[in-house]
Amino acid sequence: MKIGILSDVHANLVALETVLAAIGAVDAIWVCGDTVGYGPDPSDVLALLIERKATIVAGNHDRAVARNEDLELFNRPAARAVRMHQSWLSGAERDTLAALPKTLETDNVTLCHGSLRDPLWEYVTNPRSAAASLALAKTAHCCAGHTHVPSLFRAGAKEQPGRVKYETPYPLAPRAFLNPGSVGQPRDGDPRAAYATLDLAAGTVTFHRST
Ligand code: ZN
Repeated sequence: MKIGILSDVHANLVALETVLAAIGAVDAIWVCGDTVGYGPDPSDVLALLIERKATIVAGNHDRAVARNEDLELFNRPAARAVRMHQSWLSGAERDTLAALPKTLETDNVTLCHGSLRDPLWEYVTNPRSAAASLALAKTAHCCAGHTHVPSLFRAGAKEQPGRVKYETPYPLAPRAFLNPGSVGQPRDGDPRAAYATLDLAAGTVTFHRST
């Protein structure tokens, strides 16, 4: 079973279409939050992910657009984008966003946006915070987004890859906390859209960039 893992699309339809074309045929698409916020196409991005039957969890931007949640925690440009998206989306679209769960378990993987300690807001950027989330997970592995930087933390691994290598399968075993990076707004100095694919039969994750 092959799964495409996306996060932080941020209403960037061109980037989402590019990534979906690059992924090709997969058995499932998982999205680790921040489907909207910042970009020009919140409605079309949401519709395309629903059309592709994606499994989606909520990000901090999704909750803010849907129900004003934690709006006071956003900086001014981000808060302005939230209000813009609120005015562009229909009530039904905002209800769809509001109904997204903060965490979700599927195929021995827990999906969240930030972490399991703080699903909407924690940035997992080091092995210690990754381990804290894995300690809370009922599944072997955890997928998150939020940092907009592709990363992989494996329990007990001798080397923790700082910058991930692309097109290189990494074993998930024994336990992995992974972040596919951002489709719509990368923040690691590489402007290409980031995503990852899971091969559940092989037990590996592979990171990708595409333009
Ligand atoms: Zn984000």
